[in-house]
Amino acid sequence: MTQPTNTLPADRPLAIFCDFDGTFSVQDVGSTLAQQLLPERRANLWERFDQGEFTAWTYVMALLDGLELPEKQLYEFLETIDLDPGAEDLLAWCEAEGVPFRILSDGFDWNLERLQEINGVAFEYNANHLRYEGETWRLSPGRPNEACGCGTGSCKRGLIRSYREANPGAFCVHIGNGRVSDLCGALEADLAYAKDTLAPALEEQGHPFVAFETLHDVIAHLKAGRGE
Ligand SMILES: [Mg+2]
Ligand SMILES: [Zn+2]
Repeated sequence: MTQPTNTLPADRPLAIFCDFDGTFSVQDVGSTLAQQLLPERRANLWERFDQGEFTAWTYVMALLDGLELPEKQLYEFLETIDLDPGAEDLLAWCEAEGVPFRILSDGFDWNLERLQEINGVAFEYNANHLRYEGETWRLSPGRPNEACGCGTGSCKRGLIRSYREANPGAFCVHIGNGRVSDLCGALEADLAYAKDTLAPALEEQGHPFVAFETLHDVIAHLKAGRGE
């Protein structure tokens, strides 16, 4: 595994982009829900996705669009999702340091709104859209990007690139865990923190990253890089 420099450039303003599912939270909201409610459908569709039949977004649509799930039941499920043990400290560190922090999620805005409420935290985010029609899920993508090839509903490469264009000179950090939704963002960032399937995907490309287990590790590395 390649370790990039532990030094963050003193002359460039930092910006932190963090995946939600499995990174800011312990469990992945969408896949845990699908495992609980639609185990067979998920297994079938996943196999077809793995064989290249779907893009990441068309897989999500085939799996979850039209799901019948009363709001109350979803809310109760969301109460079972845990945040990473370092999640609140990372928000606090960014706040104290004046570092912009943004969740980039290939999950859904409805869930992220409730998860902030449930956990008493607040963050800016980009995500896909979920609205209720009665008790039925209606999904739409947040910011797809044909040019990228990731096939997700919210392309993290495109989101980080837009930030960079609006904030020239920004040193963009990406924190993530998944090869499907985080790879393009990690490649676009100036510094990538990676775990789970994202780490070997970056390794395969010979792209440097910092391995982490919890967000406490990320905070420690950021602090060391800033000479704190
Ligand atoms: Mg994830
Ligand atoms: Zn992308």
